[in-house]
Amino acid sequence: MRTFLDSLRKRGLITPEQSAKLEQTALQGGESPIRSINRLGYVEQQVLAVELSRHFGIKPLEETDWPETSVLPDCISPRFMREHRVLPLRADPQSITVAVSDPGDEHVLNAIRIASERQLDLRIATESQIISRIERLLDGGDASASTVVSRSEEDEEHLKDLALDAPVIDLVNRLFREASAARATDLHIEPARGRVMVRRRVDGMLQEAGTLPSDFGRAAVSRIKILTHLNIAERRLPQDGRARVRAGDREYDIRVATIPTIHGESIAVRFLSATDQVPNINKLGLVAQDIELLKQQAMHAHGLIVVTGPTGSGKTTTLAAVLDFLNDPARKILTIEDPVEYQVEGVSQIQVRPDIGLTFAAMLRSLLRLDPDIIMVGEMRDSETAKIGINAALTGHLVLTTLHTNSAAGAITRLLDLGVQAFLIASTLRCVVGQRLVRKLCVNCRKQYTPQSDILAELSPELTGRYKKPRHLWKAVGCDHCSGTGYLGRAAIFEMLIVDDALRRLIRPDVSAETVMKAAKSKGMATMLADGFAKCCEGITTVEELGRVVAED
Ligand SMILES: [Zn+2]
Repeated sequence: MRTFLDSLRKRGLITPEQSAKLEQTALQGGESPIRSINRLGYVEQQVLAVELSRHFGIKPLEETDWPETSVLPDCISPRFMREHRVLPLRADPQSITVAVSDPGDEHVLNAIRIASERQLDLRIATESQIISRIERLLDGGDASASTVVSRSEEDEEHLKDLALDAPVIDLVNRLFREASAARATDLHIEPARGRVMVRRRVDGMLQEAGTLPSDFGRAAVSRIKILTHLNIAERRLPQDGRARVRAGDREYDIRVATIPTIHGESIAVRFLSATDQVPNINKLGLVAQDIELLKQQAMHAHGLIVVTGPTGSGKTTTLAAVLDFLNDPARKILTIEDPVEYQVEGVSQIQVRPDIGLTFAAMLRSLLRLDPDIIMVGEMRDSETAKIGINAALTGHLVLTTLHTNSAAGAITRLLDLGVQAFLIASTLRCVVGQRLVRKLCVNCRKQYTPQSDILAELSPELTGRYKKPRHLWKAVGCDHCSGTGYLGRAAIFEMLIVDDALRRLIRPDVSAETVMKAAKSKGMATMLADGFAKCCEGITTVEELGRVVAED
């Protein structure tokens, strides 16, 4: 589309300012440049049609091409034709000839291809020609009125119909399949002005994955809501749900959340990796010495082990690996999670359901009556859960949990904030693993370079004096393997705080995270930053990535 705008500009049909404005609008997810040109009247429609025909190598429409009756009315609805200014001219079993005013709108063309199950043969016509023909064909002086009505009165039945349309089912199957192929953890379908944007989260970063025509996008949202048993008529209130769904030839465990926005309902799909392999504790990416320490601590019959980090930092993965390590028939292991992300063979895992009163605290209280050896509590979010959990750790259970804090040292102050008494923390806490995820360099295209002399100071003054400037580091380049990002997959960076006698004595009601951190460092604890820096030197990640992740504090 940019080359088309360039050619219009070169021929003096639009000004550079107009061209920039059109691109800007399209980039922000607004209407397509051709639609804007027509609406703003930058170029006379007939002239535009000639230019489009020449640029895209598509035949202009002949007067005799106009159809007498509707073509494939079951596949292409009047609504779709009006909204996208397209009109099917004729069809045979293999192909469909369609008049279009915007041949650059791939999503509309794709929608027709999918809906008609035919090859496309295009003819260029002007927007006003197409609109007037659609109305003449549908025999409606009242047609424009019915457009307005059908838009505002999307009743439940209509949405359901749309969502059960084969093209929409295909679309959702394709979105899921592509998200999975791209290793996406999340899929976002978000209405913008005039269209619907699709984005995916891969390795923690959002990527654009195209746009859909509005009605198609809205139907996809309804389809996903039906799959996850949400109320499709309710589009003004947020909803969330979870289900194992079948899409195409695969099943997906998904959790969805809908949010009403000014442009319509937006939906976020999280793909839960319940079928993922539980990682091995030796392969988490902890240094050998820390693996041994963690195993030693986990082998104790009672006490508390905490994993800390922000949302999406791989805490659950670490806990699952520890559980898997501890998992043998001689130990009774129970978990309370929200959601259950990894299924561990032989472990009873329970999903919290706050909507029916099964909160973390309530579940934990009942679980203790089942006499478990080890309990994993997905997260200690509230004071009640924290207090019951600490009591369990004190009374002969090994309790594993996560806390949402920036550093390992922060776990102690967080527990104090949750109302747990300092002496109870001191007598139960065994170790805290702090972690973050960094994107891993794509080994296919990463490139070595010699860093500047002040690289350590630039990253953090904490590193200078303790580490020598590395002879070389690695940078991200980008290739086909990694979709041009230079990164592929993620790795964790860790810090491990072992609570020994000296540290235990420091745990008082007014202790600060800094004091704990300082004491731990003086005992030789490598911080997350130091661990990450070691991973930069090994070519696992880059200093830019480390800076991005650690600077989130
Ligand atoms: Zn690459």
